[in-house]
Amino acid sequence: MLAHARMIGHVCDGFWPEPFFWHDGEGGSGRTPNVVVVRTRTPVREKGPGDGFMEPPMNDLPATIESMLSSVVDLRHHLHAHPELGFEEHDTARRIAAELEQIDNLDVRTGVAKTGIVATLNADKPGKCVALRADMDGLTIEEETGLPYASKNPGHMHACGHDGHMACLVGAAKVLSHIADDLPGKVKFIFQPAEEGRGGGNAMRNAGVLDDPTVDAIFAMHGWPELEFGVVGTRAGPFLASQDSWEMTVHGTGGHAAWPHLCVDPIVAAAHIITAIQTIVSRSTDPLHAAVVTVGEFNAGTAHNIIPATAELTGTIRALDTACRTQAAQRLTDIAEKTAAALGARADVRIKPGYPVLVNDPAAARLVMDVAGDVLGPDKVAPEMPPCMGAEDFAYYAEQRPAAFWCLGTSRPDAASAPRLHQPTYDFPDALLPIGIRMHCEITRGFLGAV
Ligand SMILES: [Zn+2]
Ligand SMILES: [Zn+2]
Repeated sequence: MLAHARMIGHVCDGFWPEPFFWHDGEGGSGRTPNVVVVRTRTPVREKGPGDGFMEPPMNDLPATIESMLSSVVDLRHHLHAHPELGFEEHDTARRIAAELEQIDNLDVRTGVAKTGIVATLNADKPGKCVALRADMDGLTIEEETGLPYASKNPGHMHACGHDGHMACLVGAAKVLSHIADDLPGKVKFIFQPAEEGRGGGNAMRNAGVLDDPTVDAIFAMHGWPELEFGVVGTRAGPFLASQDSWEMTVHGTGGHAAWPHLCVDPIVAAAHIITAIQTIVSRSTDPLHAAVVTVGEFNAGTAHNIIPATAELTGTIRALDTACRTQAAQRLTDIAEKTAAALGARADVRIKPGYPVLVNDPAAARLVMDVAGDVLGPDKVAPEMPPCMGAEDFAYYAEQRPAAFWCLGTSRPDAASAPRLHQPTYDFPDALLPIGIRMHCEITRGFLGAV
């Protein structure tokens, strides 16, 4: 347990939420009664001329974070304004690399898995190595926030908050470099492309980012609208689902709509298949296990008076354990082929394996919860979040190393309707940046055993 936590930071006009959460390191925690208590600026800031401002003490993380917060906010706004899609994050990578190359004690490798970056602090130091991962890509969404730093790339947007994740990780690299000598080990900062469906996590893992130096544990943060603002949540074990997509072609025999007895109607066969595959979850899956089989597309036909030759379906399979995942894919194939055959048609099913189940290591998840309790206060921890059927390619790292994916709540309790991930009004809150940075730093210190 960490014993040094006192405050999560100092108020910096424009960034901090009100009320301001505090924790006294001796069991006390809560909210400031009003803003008067915390309106005092701490006389520290980024390196500048010697005009009376003090450099923060090396072990005073909140002061160090505050001293560089404005540059992290600027970075996030820049990244938010310039979203790029998976494996195309060239400008993003250039900007991140430029930030990292200014940091002492950091070995920076660019061009990893195309646009990824891996930076290692204390690369030659003995001891354990902890990795922290941020995702880099945006989405094909037209932004509707109206913010001054809204996307300048039409049709593209950081609607999943990856701009905030990157900014927090750059901030953590800056802060941890200040205390590099006090860290009894190495820290690897992983900036990963293409989380949104293109498997950048798999590409980075295959590029060897968990090796040389060998990563002993890996952590990742994600902004989470389902959690109250500033609350940290995670869980041990399966957290996010596997995600496999599938495509199906149902082959029949086309012809005139008025002579169905001379045709094999693929639309009718596909309709029976859609109905029958509902039994995969309701009848074939243990009710105490979770799975989803969704049909996302059903395309067939060209005119009202023609029976088409084929029907095309696509969909997704989600599961929280590998046995369910495998069974659901097999049942989908069997049901489709046999239902089609019963109706004189033929189904061709193509399962496209996607992200595996994201399984958090219990000890790694425990560390996140302990750190959050110490730094933010016990009322800011959601220790046993329910799993969900979303997917994340952080799962690829978690297959090979102890790992914890943790969430940072973005929903203000007073907000009438908080934007959700992948909505055109989503924006990672600036006020969460110091909390994210602090959590990254304390997880690192906790894992490496820094005192
Ligand atoms: Zn997303
Ligand atoms: Zn995301």
